[in-house]
Order: sequence, then C-alpha cells, then structure tokens
Amino acid sequence: MSVTKIVLFYVFTPLADPEAVKLWQLALAENCNLKGRVIISPDGINATLGGDIDDVKRYVRTTKSYAPFKKADIKWSNGQGNDFPRLSVKVRPELVTFTRPEEIKVTDKGVEGGGVHLKPGELHKLVEERGDDVVFFDGRNAMEAQIGKFKNAIVPDTETTRDFIAEIESGKYDDLKNKPVVTYCTGGIRCEVLSVLMKNRGFEEVYQLEGGIVRYGETYGNSGLWDGSLYVFDKRMHMEFGDGAESLGTCVSCGTHTPIFVNCANLSCRKQFLRCEDCTERNEHPYCDDCVEAGLDTVAAQ
Ligand SMILES: [Zn+2]
Ligand SMILES: [Zn+2]
Repeated sequence: MSVTKIVLFYVFTPLADPEAVKLWQLALAENCNLKGRVIISPDGINATLGGDIDDVKRYVRTTKSYAPFKKADIKWSNGQGNDFPRLSVKVRPELVTFTRPEEIKVTDKGVEGGGVHLKPGELHKLVEERGDDVVFFDGRNAMEAQIGKFKNAIVPDTETTRDFIAEIESGKYDDLKNKPVVTYCTGGIRCEVLSVLMKNRGFEEVYQLEGGIVRYGETYGNSGLWDGSLYVFDKRMHMEFGDGAESLGTCVSCGTHTPIFVNCANLSCRKQFLRCEDCTERNEHPYCDDCVEAGLDTVAAQ
C-alpha cells in the first residue's frame, strides 16, 4: 500500500520573476503527481501539497535545490490519499491576503520588522515568566478556532484574512498594546505578516509562534497549552495531536463535541457549521443558523 504525505511550507524571499517560478513549480508538482495549492508572489512561496511519499520527497528535494527556497522549513503530516481535489499553482500579489502588500518588506532573511519568533519551548518559557499577562492572538479565520485554539486565546472576528486590518484598527484590542501578545496560526505564515501589521499599529511587544500550531502540536501534543482540534485545508478538515483531544466545538443539533464542519444546504449560502456524524447521517439541521432565522428551512420543507 502506498503511503501518502502532505507537506506545508513557506519561504519569504524576494523573487525577481514570480511567473518563471510558477511555471517551474507547476511542471515540478505535475511531474511528481502532487495535488494541492502553491502560491507564488514577489515575496516568496506558500505551498500545501500532497501525494505519494516518494513523489513528495522528490518534490521537496528539487524545491530546496533552488537557492532562495533552501531554508524552507517543511512540515510533514500524514495524508489519506486524494487529499486535494486538484493542483493549483498561481501568482498573487501577496502570499497571504491581508491587503497591505505595501507594508511588508522582504529580504533574503525573510520579513522585516515582524514579531519575535518563538519556538514551542520558548513559548512555554515566556508563559512561565510572564504568566497570565501573555495574550494569545489567533491569526486564523474565526471559524477555525471553533474547534481548537490556545487556552484563553483572543479570536478576532474575521471571516477572511482581509478582515484583520479592520479588527486591529477597531480599538477593541487597544488594551493589549502594551502586553506580550503571541500571534499564532496553522503553519506560521499568516503571523509573519500579521505581526508586522500589529506592530505598525502600536502593539509594542509582539511575538509569533514559529512553525505555527502544526509544529507546536508535534512538540507538545495535547499536554501543553493547546485545546482541541486543528482545522486544516484538505480533505481531512481537522487533525488532532494524539488521542484524548476533545474538540472545542459542539454539534449545532445535539450539542456533542465534534470537529466536523458541514456546508449549509442552501446552495447560495454554503456557510460552514459544526454538525456531528450521527446528526449528519440523519440530516438533522441541514441549514445554518442564518438561513434558519431567515426562514429558509421551513420554505425548503414545504
Ligand atoms: Zn449531533
Ligand atoms: Zn446558510
């Protein structure tokens, strides 16, 4: 039986010709039979790809043979096979769409002026030293935090990455501006940008979790400061760091803990909400709360 792996990595580095890098990456990923998503920008590369373990290794070796990508920190996880529906390799103005590319300066050493990088062990040291003063700030979309987050983390009200600027400029978080704030996200990339944007807006002591939740989970599993499941952007939808992890979220219908998101049955909505396996089997609560409130469920039942 073949073993499938998923790799997640990014590199912030100036790319003079993103279009050429795209063509090379597309040909390479196709040649290695990989699926998933690669974004190239003038500031670097962000990739999530899956495939047969030998193919993935070949892809990683070749990608790292390109000098600007040599220092790529590759995070590996187990796939299930066909984890992504297709391969997409694109050039975009930003690696992550915070809509402020002009604020981000990238050199061959990475992003300039970001937060202090903390490895998982260094994060624990900071928390030991500073205690409850340390604030975790979730750099993901709010929905993802429904099934897991750092203990007592602040989850900004964001549907997409584009919403962060309005959030950090809203005044809601001004009391954090002189506190140690640790930003975290899935693999670390969003925090590279978010920490700069926060520092530019007066947050004085900003840290970022290096390698993101993925690396933290590899180090501490469920015995550290992380609670619940990790939302992931492939067929798995969620992952747990070992047995005994209980997802934070609860089924919209019966209230049991579940990490499973389903799409609203209203085809023009498709909003994701949590519903457990049993309730999904019985097709309980097929519409999201917004659609229920709008009376769509009763219309559909007639
Ligand atoms: Zn249920
Ligand atoms: Zn809906």
